[in-house]
Amino acid sequence: MSSQSKSIEPYLNCSFECGCGRTHSSLFAHYIFEPGAIKKLPKLLSQLGYVRPYLISDTHTHEIAGCQTEEVLQKAGISFTSHVLKSPENSDLPADENALGSIAMANDKDADIIISIGTGTINDLGRYFSYITGRPFLLVATAPSMDGLVSGVAPLVFHNMKITFSAQEPLVLVCDADIMTKAPLKMLAAGAADILGKYNCLLDWKLSHIVNDEYYCETIADIMRTAVDQTMESTKGLASHDDQAVSVLTEALVLSGIAMDFSGNSRPASGAEHHQSHYWEMQFLFDGIPAVLHGTKVGIGTVLMLELYNALAEMERPDFDAVRANIANRLSMEEWEQEMRRCYRDGADGIIELEKKAKKNDPENLSGRLLVIEERWDEIQALAKTAPKADEIYQVLAKMGAAKVPADVGIPNQYVSDSIRYGKELRDRYTILQLMWDIGKLDEEAELLVEKYCR
Ligand SMILES: [Zn+2]
Ligand SMILES: [Zn+2]
Repeated sequence: MSSQSKSIEPYLNCSFECGCGRTHSSLFAHYIFEPGAIKKLPKLLSQLGYVRPYLISDTHTHEIAGCQTEEVLQKAGISFTSHVLKSPENSDLPADENALGSIAMANDKDADIIISIGTGTINDLGRYFSYITGRPFLLVATAPSMDGLVSGVAPLVFHNMKITFSAQEPLVLVCDADIMTKAPLKMLAAGAADILGKYNCLLDWKLSHIVNDEYYCETIADIMRTAVDQTMESTKGLASHDDQAVSVLTEALVLSGIAMDFSGNSRPASGAEHHQSHYWEMQFLFDGIPAVLHGTKVGIGTVLMLELYNALAEMERPDFDAVRANIANRLSMEEWEQEMRRCYRDGADGIIELEKKAKKNDPENLSGRLLVIEERWDEIQALAKTAPKADEIYQVLAKMGAAKVPADVGIPNQYVSDSIRYGKELRDRYTILQLMWDIGKLDEEAELLVEKYCR
């Protein structure tokens, strides 16, 4: 049951003291990617000492792999409870309090392990349910479509807000190559795009390290860079559903999860490009429009955010005295709140509360950051110069047949303009968006981006 992957193996069930001063550890112990992997489940469970799983799937994933999992367990004489959530027609099940309630109500309290069959919602829900009920978690993945295959957190929708909760990382990840390689191209491309987003979020993380002295770990960043390199290598073979390409992509997604696990939050895997994705996702939820795959939106967001880094790389040094003199002319808290009510609608209260705690737009905090940005401008600009060109990533997305611009998935221009200007309010996380706001350039850059990408 060992991993077939050299890049993942060193991090299975590990704990080590890192140069960053922290101890990194992972409970994730078994990674299987091979044809017919589901058939190995009974043996695997008995070796690990589990006898009674609670299976969670949805209508789609039950058809893809749930049926087969039940059959395999039945044949082996393993008793289990299986709960199949009903997927809405033509869209994905939202990972919200309703879905979680349904899982809780069908729960087998005597089950000794939770098995989720699926990749997105079902994985997030199962991982969280496993965490709150104190049982180990096993994931049977159905598509390499996002980087949360192995992760200790779960993004769930609560009161219309997407919130990241602590969750149980899987003890075992089972990837049946027969199923994974047959995943629709849009799912493969979404998985790759989720990793391509790391080009941006690694820059955001380093940027925050420079500006705010935020914790930063080079080991974790390196794991993520390996994932990005592997993904770039895989993109050529995805369109033809090449076995090797899908295997390499899945490994990259697993590595990204491990990196998140090591940092204890999603910092190494989620920056401004994810804020764009989350913002659009919320708007679609409000409007009742079927969701678009997470990674697909992240890919589009990545192109936009890399444009901001490219602009930063070319920018003249700001006149910091003028920026400071202008602080009083920015939106007042009342005006800003009005904008939050317009953009975040039912979710506005949460956003306003967050800002009251984070105070990232507070004039005093802004002045403090401006001093650092002024002093370290050359370093910041040197970092921006390491960013790939937005067009390069645009071309990679194009070659995979993935969505490249907001209109490709029906995101209206207004949402793009708002996500660039206010997507940063979703989290207390420093990114290129906050930096552009700090130096008074965000509105101007938002306009340029809408002009270029929303025609
Ligand atoms: Zn470290
Ligand atoms: Zn993601």
